[in-house]
Amino acid sequence: MSTFLFDQTIFGPVISRRLGISLGINLLPNDSKLCSFDCIYCECGWNPEKGTVKAILPTRIEVKRMLSEKLMAMKSEGELPDVITFAGNGEPTLHPDFASIIDDTLLIRNELCPGARIAVLSNSTMLHKSKVVEALKKIDDNILKLDSGIPATIRLLDQPVGRFDLQSVVHNIKQFDGQLIIQTMFIRGNYKGAIIDNTAEQELKAWIAILQQIRPRQVMIYTIARDTPVNDLQKVSTDELETIAERVKKETGLEVQVSG
Ligand code: SF4
Repeated sequence: MSTFLFDQTIFGPVISRRLGISLGINLLPNDSKLCSFDCIYCECGWNPEKGTVKAILPTRIEVKRMLSEKLMAMKSEGELPDVITFAGNGEPTLHPDFASIIDDTLLIRNELCPGARIAVLSNSTMLHKSKVVEALKKIDDNILKLDSGIPATIRLLDQPVGRFDLQSVVHNIKQFDGQLIIQTMFIRGNYKGAIIDNTAEQELKAWIAILQQIRPRQVMIYTIARDTPVNDLQKVSTDELETIAERVKKETGLEVQVSG
């Protein structure tokens, strides 16, 4: 299936069901994906084979200049974003200057659009770095991926590129003392002969048990909306997502948001 790459560092604004008018920042290359996961449902497709692509990242100075210019242009047109969202072609916290770029973005936001929130969509794999954690503590919406409470399922769904240890990730997420949003993708399908269904009972039990430990301020659940690199994947219906949300609310008291 055809997948999609953002071809700019600053993209949008786009209307996001979850976030409102969102101006995007892509700290990854504009022509390839760069991620510490290779999720089988990733809208950006697969990571390129190792050594085949030279990943060129925007510099801190370029990001600062492009963001200021874009926000000034939006301001002059009277259309400021509700949220500035770090997302794009991979994992934003892989950028070596991620923490400094967050500091710059906070200053620019405060000056040009103080009403906008700053959100980061991260896959939680770089939380062993204190600089990344400290930067994420400064933003408004720290949105961290957790697709399952079972390590083998995460390996199947998210295809970590390096070593991955779920217990360590959960330990690292707890550093935020609940000041985070957990984001979980629910899907069904097949991949390389393995059956995928993270809505199954043992999956939900394990995932909810981890949510209980983390106690995020919100849980966002969603399913695939666009093309994925693996063909054999199916959406989970909005009704089923609503049922999962109700269960989480009942068993944990946490706030849950469904994006169908
Ligand atoms: S974490 Fe996000 S960018 Fe990375 S592979 Fe998964 S869906 Fe794609």
